[in-house]
Amino acid sequence: MSEVLVLVDHVDGAVKKPTYELLTIAKRLGEPSAVFIGAAAQGAEVAEKVKAYGAEKVYVVDDASIKGYLVAPKAEALQQLAQQVSPAAILITSGAEGKEVAARLAIKLESGLITDAVDVADDATTTQSVFAGNYTVQAKVTKGTPIITVKPNSAAPQEAPGAGVVEEFGATVSEGAKTAQIVASQPRQATGRPELTEAAIVVSGGRGVGSEESFAVIEALADSLGAAVGASRAAVDAGWRPHSYQIGQTGKTVSPQLYMANGISGAIQHRAGMQTSKTIVAVNKDEEAPIFELVDFGVVGDLHTVLPALTEQVTQR
Ligand code: FAD
Repeated sequence: MSEVLVLVDHVDGAVKKPTYELLTIAKRLGEPSAVFIGAAAQGAEVAEKVKAYGAEKVYVVDDASIKGYLVAPKAEALQQLAQQVSPAAILITSGAEGKEVAARLAIKLESGLITDAVDVADDATTTQSVFAGNYTVQAKVTKGTPIITVKPNSAAPQEAPGAGVVEEFGATVSEGAKTAQIVASQPRQATGRPELTEAAIVVSGGRGVGSEESFAVIEALADSLGAAVGASRAAVDAGWRPHSYQIGQTGKTVSPQLYMANGISGAIQHRAGMQTSKTIVAVNKDEEAPIFELVDFGVVGDLHTVLPALTEQVTQR
């Protein structure tokens, strides 16, 4: 069975949940191999984690000479590994960095690339939502090694122990790939909530929330559910929450198990960022609001009444 390479998504060796989802998908396509580009000293610990989700091999690419450089060196290292192992596919998390690595890799390998898949079948046919969510398409790479970026929360990670054999891979990254370097970085402000694009539950607020202060009702419900907080563009444009909260065509795309739209009308540009969510719930005082066309459960009511009551119920459990 051919190997399927999964690029480990991590922050300083802390493996992010989408990696486990990719390993679960990789098992459908062949034999999952994780690729960890990071500090060699963290390789064994990372291997322990990814092997629980089926990684048969764990390639450790020491990043000592490339740490701090933007994505080009990672694409070069992956290219060299792919040329050595001829994988059946390469899976990468859909995020700003993942998609750039994937694009550069596809050019280097002269392979087809599919981004933002929400599902990948056994034969590597992918499902994607395109044109601001107007179409759902099935697509398959027909040239070279399929390179597929998959949105977080597209699969439930399944524990299935693999061998987890660690292999050091000595990539030779050229000076030419070291084109851009991080010169300063500020730690992201910790909210104590899960990352928006990775969260299993997202609670969002729109113009209907009414004010910056009133977003407290959204946050209280989110915290009772262990959810991330999102916002529509109207709420962001009003300055109630920063752009990093925005979901939609010009914001982030989320695909959680549960998405709650509160005081959001359901414009096509907002749908583009959330309509692949597994279960969608909306609270809106207008029963004609377009959001109700795509929900699994809808509550017609004032969010300032419904949400606190719901938060109380959840907190009591
Ligand atoms: P509204 O459309 O004003 O809806 C507010 C809703 O709240 C209404 O349905 C109302 O009935 C309800 N409501 C009011 N008060 C209450 C209450 N007390 N309780 C319950 N319900 C209440 N939008 C995005 O979200 N993300 C994007 O990325 C995005 N990108 C865009 C890109 C382009 C190029 C363009 C042109 C637009 C984009 N938009 C985007 C904007 C989009 O078209 C909508 O204007 C926006 O999504 C509306 O936000 P909203 O639903 O919060 O506000």
